Amino acid sequence: MSQVSRLTFLLLALLVGLVACGKPPQPPHQAQLMALGTLVNVSIAGVDDARAARAVRAVEEELNRVYETWHAWRPSTLSEINRRLAAGETVSADPATLAVLRKARDLSLRSGGLFDPGIGALIELWGFHSEDRPAGPPPAETAIARLLARHPSLADLVIEDHRLRSTNPALRIDLGGFAKGYAVDLAVERLRELGIRNAIVNAGGDLRAIGRHGERAWRIGIRDPRGPGIIAALETHGDESVFTSGNYERFFDYRGVRYHHIIDPRNGHPARGTLSVTVIHDDAGTADAAATALFVAGPQGWRATARQMGIDQVMLIDSEMRIHVTPKMNRRLIFQSQPIPEVIVSPLS
Ligand code: ADP
Ligand code: MG
Repeated sequence: MSQVSRLTFLLLALLVGLVACGKPPQPPHQAQLMALGTLVNVSIAGVDDARAARAVRAVEEELNRVYETWHAWRPSTLSEINRRLAAGETVSADPATLAVLRKARDLSLRSGGLFDPGIGALIELWGFHSEDRPAGPPPAETAIARLLARHPSLADLVIEDHRLRSTNPALRIDLGGFAKGYAVDLAVERLRELGIRNAIVNAGGDLRAIGRHGERAWRIGIRDPRGPGIIAALETHGDESVFTSGNYERFFDYRGVRYHHIIDPRNGHPARGTLSVTVIHDDAGTADAAATALFVAGPQGWRATARQMGIDQVMLIDSEMRIHVTPKMNRRLIFQSQPIPEVIVSPLS
């Protein structure tokens, strides 16, 4: 999404919140910052402005730390780990680094390998390890096939005590599908430590909300994959994360075909059949990884993958604009666009 459309989306999301909730007792403290390579909107309610401003600075610090540590192609802790693992070295890592990799590996296993942060070499081959949108053409089929034949996967990462090694020289770790969620979790933890009980950390439409806004629930918007508007709104309860993976985030068009950045590890190509997947879960890291996994699973496979990952609130929009939802998600969605699209409700089991 361009900066401008991100901004439009965030403002729209905010507007839905304010309009739909009626007149709140006191407007929440609002701050916008650039972090994680996107616009981040922090809303805090129930404390004075000075305290909220301090909390926003803490959030920014936390997000920047994750971004700098886990950046996939700039010099970072991750790029150093990747370089050394590829050279066959054993790498010592600190507890925070190990925790991220353990959690990502666990989520990857539970997704049956559809979310696989070990396929960094494929993401790079498609040109997505760059600030700029790739121009195309797509990579040669022979290059994709060569990489696939080496079966790189995060399952090749061996974690023993505080040491890492790889059983596959083709392993390149890319946490693009998980680091934002993990960062948002850390940011919310930090807010809690600072005594903040009511807040939203919204990173380009992916968010975790805690508490309430005065007497009312926070109300948030889910982006319409066709444009900058909102397709549905929902109210968050208690502590919830809402994450969306979409084919509109990073892509290039080449000879009339769209190639986006969510790659199916089974065939090495952008996953087909889906425009976006939204997942609600307690923690943002799981929601982020699951949204990526279910996007890859597609309109046929998403139910099985959701079950495996313990996710029961999903909205998948397929390439025909049909909306597939779980019953629990269906009860919460308030559609905003007219006409209301076709909704297919199906239980997970
Ligand atoms: P969004 O950017 O829409 O929030 P995601 O959370 O799904 O999307 O993240 C997409 C990023 O995840 C890609 O840019 C890439 O870095 C990485 N990625 C792509 N395909 C996969 C996959 N199958 N498993 C894990 N990570 C992936
Ligand atoms: Mg994701």
